[in-house]
Amino acid sequence: MAIDFTTYDDDNIFAKILRGELPNTTVHEDDHVLAFLDIVPAAPVHVLVIPKGRYIAQDDFHREASDAEIIAFWRAVAKICDELDGIEDGHRLIANQGGDSGQVVPHFHLHILAGKPLGPLIAA
Ligand code: AMP
Repeated sequence: MAIDFTTYDDDNIFAKILRGELPNTTVHEDDHVLAFLDIVPAAPVHVLVIPKGRYIAQDDFHREASDAEIIAFWRAVAKICDELDGIEDGHRLIANQGGDSGQVVPHFHLHILAGKPLGPLIAA
């Protein structure tokens, strides 16, 4: 079934994680942000950073979130990148949005990938 990227789905996996209905391995949490390990890591370091608010992707997050939420999000990203083991030689941030990007979870999330040379920006 096609993913609906127009209306927030309270049953999406990350909404369930935020409600404590599914487990996660947390690496950072504050009032506005949760960050946890990706369950299918694409690199030795693969962390997902999500806002706690109900945002589908980067566009509605940056359009509708409060300044406090947006600042907390990006400060958390910087803190995680400063403090994670295995990230000393660089990292890549990816935010998929919509079908062509490969987004499968319709709750805004940022991938932090690191721990090996990550190769070209996109597959050929
Ligand atoms: P995207 O394709 O950008 O929507 O990425 C979604 C990511 O969520 C994928 O990298 C999945 O491996 C990851 N994922 C899906 N379910 C879980 C889960 N329960 N815990 C942690 N990561 C998950």
